[in-house]
Amino acid sequence: MPENNDYITSVFYFKEQVQKFVEERGWTEFHTPKNLVQALNCEAGELSQLLLFKEYTKKDVRSNQDLFTNICDEIADVFIYLVSLINALDIDLSEIFVKKMQKNRQKYSKEEFNNGIYFKK
Ligand SMILES: [Mg+2]
Repeated sequence: MPENNDYITSVFYFKEQVQKFVEERGWTEFHTPKNLVQALNCEAGELSQLLLFKEYTKKDVRSNQDLFTNICDEIADVFIYLVSLINALDIDLSEIFVKKMQKNRQKYSKEEFNNGIYFKK
């Protein structure tokens, strides 16, 4: 298993690594909320472009090493900008995650959404 994996890596590790990367390059002043949201959207667009007009299944993606590597790279880019935005706004990700999951459980109750029903409220 690699040194870092989802079972042992903390949110703090991600926040610290991204902050260090940004500070070492003198990019902090450019990491405004607007710039980070736009950069995040650009990276999400790059991820989306890899799948545009394709109907890949999970098996298709996992069996195409180049595609899988590119998708992983773009997912990481999206995540890195999201972590940078969280850093820039001094947000505790765990706290907002718990709060929003509670809201989502109420908004999309098991009683209403229990039979494959899926739509955005
Ligand atoms: Mg990218």
